[in-house]
Amino acid sequence: MMLYADIFEKAYKLKVFQIWELTEELYKDWEGIFSKKVVKDRVTSFIASQLRANSLIKVRSDPSIFAFPEFGTEWEKYVRKRKCQTCGKEFIPFRPEQVYCSEKCRERRKASPLPPQKTQKKWAKEEEEFLKRELRKKGKLSKKDMVEIAQKLQRSYRSVWHKVRRLQHEAKNNP
Ligand SMILES: [Zn+2]
Repeated sequence: MMLYADIFEKAYKLKVFQIWELTEELYKDWEGIFSKKVVKDRVTSFIASQLRANSLIKVRSDPSIFAFPEFGTEWEKYVRKRKCQTCGKEFIPFRPEQVYCSEKCRERRKASPLPPQKTQKKWAKEEEEFLKRELRKKGKLSKKDMVEIAQKLQRSYRSVWHKVRRLQHEAKNNP
């Protein structure tokens, strides 16, 4: 049974919160017993009753942010923020999965995705020699061999696989 006292305790820990934040907090304890929708419904009715009793105030609308009266004037100090993954600016996330401060930043990130990972870096002479030695030693490299080599060289399996194929091709053309 989820009591208002349970919800109150979590809410008071957050001091300033949105419906989704309180829902996520409670869901950590009630997952498997209630669906997230049920938890959210309880949170919503809890908030409505607390607002009527003036034990909660709404400090911002659309989307709404609620606070206990003693934290109301300084709610911005208590509200939880995130760093935008594009511009680095701090913002208030209005959805649990939100990682960009604005639509503009989301679009910008989509247009220029993260730079290629270092697994695509050029092969060093020593790495190439090491791979050639392994090939000579074993004649043929199994998937397991290549996974181990990739780990040793801190490269992706894919990167090793491509290099092996190229080396084999070169060996065939220059015996
Ligand atoms: Zn941004």
